[in-house]
Amino acid sequence: MRFEQLAASQTVVAKVMENSIRTDKVGHAYIFSGDYEPYLIETAQLFAKSLFCEAPDGVEPCGDCRNCRRMDSGNLVDYLEMEPDGASIKKEQIQQLLSDLSLRGAEGDRQVYVIHQAHKMTTQAANSLLKFFEEPGVGKLAILVTTQPQLLLPTIRSRAQQLVFRPIDRNELADKLSADVACTTDLARLALAVYPKWDDAREVLHNEWFVQSYGLVVQLVEVLTKRPQELLLFAQEKWLGHFKGRNELRVGLELFESWLEESLRFKVRTDYTPQLFTREQALYQAFISNRSAHKIVHAIEHVHEAIRRLEANVNPQLTFERLTFDLQKG
Ligand SMILES: [Zn+2]
Repeated sequence: MRFEQLAASQTVVAKVMENSIRTDKVGHAYIFSGDYEPYLIETAQLFAKSLFCEAPDGVEPCGDCRNCRRMDSGNLVDYLEMEPDGASIKKEQIQQLLSDLSLRGAEGDRQVYVIHQAHKMTTQAANSLLKFFEEPGVGKLAILVTTQPQLLLPTIRSRAQQLVFRPIDRNELADKLSADVACTTDLARLALAVYPKWDDAREVLHNEWFVQSYGLVVQLVEVLTKRPQELLLFAQEKWLGHFKGRNELRVGLELFESWLEESLRFKVRTDYTPQLFTREQALYQAFISNRSAHKIVHAIEHVHEAIRRLEANVNPQLTFERLTFDLQKG
């Protein structure tokens, strides 16, 4: 991401960040709040990159200096990101982060740390962070990323500058992604449905495996619609040869789930045009014509059940074979 792109959809946020960098008045704590966390994190990375860059063009990081390259490869010691450990961010995690910061910091006079899902900080964790805010030291910058800023402690909110992002249009994001990797918007939308982080979606779109996955999901629906008795055979001969381990099968199941959800919308809203697998309008028609909405909901539940089994370490092959059985039964 570049400031130029950020400014196109988040004018106010981009302006505030640019001004603080240009006038060298970067605060010690910011709250980035908005509806789409990966985008907030990417913006935090851009902010940090601009601050660390050794040869910025205005506020735009050069992308080529030692620090830019380290940022890109995740090897910049003065830049840290932290995520919740399970359901919450605990006091120990914040303390660990702060101690890591004090141990590092050998490289330059700037340190940036980004806290994902900051609203998940426990009160004790937030209080540890507050103590740190009171004496932040020179050059330290905290960016708290959250989709639920109202859940942050008022004391945290009052000590940080809040930047509120406008809602992100997912279709707009998919358009940008498809232009970036030169693929169809259809494929870009699907990639974002399964990999919500821009960088992950971008990477998977460069991979032939994902493109083939698209085709296999379409084939699965075709078999399910036209020759359901052949489902198990299809699973063994084609599907399981492509979606091999647990992670790959999970991607396949999530893609299939996307199909089912679009079908459900199509079934219940006559004016709806499916936004995923857009070339398959005829197949959507065939798929919903002999199924009730109830049956589609059941299929979605079966897919969720299969994902839960995978997470519980059930063998992927058995999991999928069981799913084909459940889908045939309806
Ligand atoms: Zn640079």
